[in-house]
Amino acid sequence: MIVWTVANQKGGVGKTTTAVALAGLLAEQGKRVLCIDTDPHASLTYYFGIDSEELESSAFDVFSAGKNITAELMRRSILPTEFKNLSVMPATMALATLDRKLGTQDGMGLVLKRGLAMIADDFDYVLIDVPPVLGVLMVNALACCRRVLIPVQTEFLALKGLDRMMRTLTLIHKSRCENYAYTIIPTLYDKRTNASLQTYKKLIARYGRSVWNGMIPIDTKFRDASNEQQPPSVYAPKARGVLAYQSLLTNLQQLDVR
Ligand code: ADP
Ligand code: MG
Repeated sequence: MIVWTVANQKGGVGKTTTAVALAGLLAEQGKRVLCIDTDPHASLTYYFGIDSEELESSAFDVFSAGKNITAELMRRSILPTEFKNLSVMPATMALATLDRKLGTQDGMGLVLKRGLAMIADDFDYVLIDVPPVLGVLMVNALACCRRVLIPVQTEFLALKGLDRMMRTLTLIHKSRCENYAYTIIPTLYDKRTNASLQTYKKLIARYGRSVWNGMIPIDTKFRDASNEQQPPSVYAPKARGVLAYQSLLTNLQQLDVR
């Protein structure tokens, strides 16, 4: 099981889109894919047409179980989607209360890691969509991943946000000895604007080989795909944006060999 966590403390940079796009492409490869939504806004959950207020069990129940997490509870909190090989652990708004309720409880940062270890044979890939907040959910998502994928919007202000995210990663890395690699993904690239090119160049200058050497273009098909509740590669297999995610995926699969 390869776990990739999609994180950035900035909203609207393409986190959920990245998780869904990669998940869709992996599922088409015949891989068994699990998307975990840990964002109380539940965008990924809605993406797959799941009504998060109607659920018997969700990511909230998994985290609430804390140390008492079981394989049975993990499996009960995972729903199939209408797309072959693609399952979702949905989020609910209640996730927003976890930090306050359970944030300081012992072992709380490792719940998802322990839970995933119990169902490691059920899936080939897990993609975790994380809220833009440093809290117990992000700590959990970082604790169990092989690689952190950091979408960064190619515009001037994005670099500041990225520096903050990198400091967060270092902090968690130091305090928990977690060992993950990371890949910065330039997103919402607009080739007509100078800002996109300049930001891309700065990213490379500052973060070098940790930056994927491609970019995800602005492509209106992403919004259309989410309206249709279909992974981008199902909705528009030949779209520029989908081809870009395919090339990113090829790169990631070369880096993280099973
Ligand atoms: P986040 O999860 O970081 O908040 P989203 O993935 O939800 O960001 O993206 C925010 C909005 O931008 C969504 O409406 C999404 O459809 C749109 N979007 C994401 N990536 C692209 C892209 N490459 N081109 C055009 N629109 C995009
Ligand atoms: Mg999101």
